[in-house]
Amino acid sequence: MLPLLPHAFAELSEDFHTRQNWEGFDNPFVVTENSDLKNELGINNLGDQQLLNIFNGTEKIKSLKPLSMVYSGHQFGQYVEQLGDGRGLLLGQMSSNSGLIDIHLKGAGKTPYSRFGDGRAVLRSVIREYLCGEAMHALSIPTSRALMIIGSDEMVIREKSESAAMLARTAKTHIRFGSFEYFHYNNQPENVKALADFCIDQYPAYFSSTPAAYEDFFRVIVERTASMIARWQACGFNHGVMNTDNMSILGETFDYGPYGFMEDYLPSYVCNHSDHQGRYAFKNQPYIGLWNCSALGHALSSLISEEAQGEILQTYEEIFQSTLAELFRKKLGLEQEESEDAALIQGLLDIMESEKLDYTNTFRNLTQALTNKITPELDSDIAKSWIVSFQERHTKEGLSVDKKLISMHQVNPKFILRNYMAQEAIDAAEDSDFSKLETLIVVLTKPFEELEEHQKFANKSPAWAKDLEISCSS
Ligand code: AMP
Ligand code: MG
Repeated sequence: MLPLLPHAFAELSEDFHTRQNWEGFDNPFVVTENSDLKNELGINNLGDQQLLNIFNGTEKIKSLKPLSMVYSGHQFGQYVEQLGDGRGLLLGQMSSNSGLIDIHLKGAGKTPYSRFGDGRAVLRSVIREYLCGEAMHALSIPTSRALMIIGSDEMVIREKSESAAMLARTAKTHIRFGSFEYFHYNNQPENVKALADFCIDQYPAYFSSTPAAYEDFFRVIVERTASMIARWQACGFNHGVMNTDNMSILGETFDYGPYGFMEDYLPSYVCNHSDHQGRYAFKNQPYIGLWNCSALGHALSSLISEEAQGEILQTYEEIFQSTLAELFRKKLGLEQEESEDAALIQGLLDIMESEKLDYTNTFRNLTQALTNKITPELDSDIAKSWIVSFQERHTKEGLSVDKKLISMHQVNPKFILRNYMAQEAIDAAEDSDFSKLETLIVVLTKPFEELEEHQKFANKSPAWAKDLEISCSS
C-alpha cells in the first residue's frame, strides 16, 4: 500500500480548493517509473503495476482527499484572475527523508478551473517534464520530480491529435505566488493571512524565531527564488514561462513547459516560441524573478508593510549575484574570491557569445586549458589570451591541478537535456518504444560522468534540430 496521506491543504476552507476525484484512463500503461525517487520515498517495495493502479484511480485509497487548487497569476505581465489546477489534482502527501512531500497528478481530467481545456496532458509534455525534473535534480537545482508516467490510448487535440498521458509528480509544495494573488485581488485579506499561516505552519523552511513571522516568510521566498534562478543561469536553463502561477513559494523549479537548455551562448535566447517579446529570455530571468517577487509582495501587502517589503526585495539582487558568482567560481575551478573574478568570467562569456560557443561544452572543456591541452572551443587569439589570464589566476591559487580537474568536472556537466534529445525520445515513445527515454534518463541522471558509450549526447544538436519549435501547448 502507498503510504499516501490526505493533504493538510484539504483542511483549509472551500475558498482554497475543490475536493474531487479524478478520471483515470480506460487502458492505462506504465511509460516509465522513477526507481531512484521510489527509493527516496521508501516505496520500492511497490511494483510499477501497483503504483499504476493507484495513480490511475483503479485502486482507491479511501482516506484520500484529492483536490484541485485555485490560484491566479500574472501571465506575461498581465493579471489573469482565475487559473487554478485545470488538469491537475493534489492527491495527498507522503513523508520523505527531506520532510513531507506533495503527490500531484497532472492530466487527471477536468476540474472547475479547466476553463476551455480538456483536463488532460499530452505524452509529449509529460515526457519533457519528467526528463527535465531528473536533469535538474542531478544538477542540484531544486525541482519537482516525477514518479511515474502513465500512458493511454486516449487521443486529445492540440496543434494536432496527440496521446494523452498522466504524470505523478512530487514537489515540496504546489502553493504558488499566484495562490496569494488570487485572494489579494479578490479582496479577501483574511484568506491571504490564512494561506500564509498555513505555509508557516506547514513548511519548516519558514520557521521564524522573531515576531515578524510574515516578513520572515517573504524573506525566505525571495531568498530561495534568487538562489534558484542563479542556479538556472549557471547551467544555461531557460524556463520559458515564468508567470507568477508557475513560481513555487519554496523555490523549486516547476510547471515545466517550453523550457530549453541553451546551447550556443546567447543571452537573448528565448526557448518559448510563443514568447514573441522575449519577456522570458535567458538574460531576463533574474529580473523577472525579482518582478515576480514584487508581485507576490504586493499580494501580501495586507500582511507586510510596503517599507518592509522594499527592504526584503532589496536582498534579492545581492543573493542572486553572490550565488551566481560562487557558482561561476566553482565552474572555473577557483576556490578563493578575488576582485578580478567578475571580469574573468565576463571575459569568457563575451568570447562564448561572439564565437557562438556551446555553453555546456565550453565549461566542461575548460579543464583542458589548465593542462595546456588544446581546448576545442577556445582556440581564437582572444580566447588564447583569456586562457593565459585564467591560468595565471590558477597559478596564484596554487592548488593541485589534479584536484581542480576533479572538482571542475563535478560542477560542469557533460550532459544537459538538449531539445532534440527529448524530441527523439518522444517520437519513439509515440510509437510505443520507450527505450530512448530510458537511455536518456540514464544519461541525464549522471550528467557529470564521462559515459563514453553515450558520447553523442554531449555533442551539439544535429542540424535538423535547429527547426524544432517548442510552443506553450501541452
Ligand atoms: P500551464 O501552462 O501548464 O502552466 O497552465 C496554465 C493554466 O492553464 C493552468 O491553470 C492549467 O491548469 C490550465 N491548463 C493548461 N492546459 C490545460 C488543459 N488541457 N485542460 C485544462 N486546463 C489546462
Ligand atoms: Mg502552470
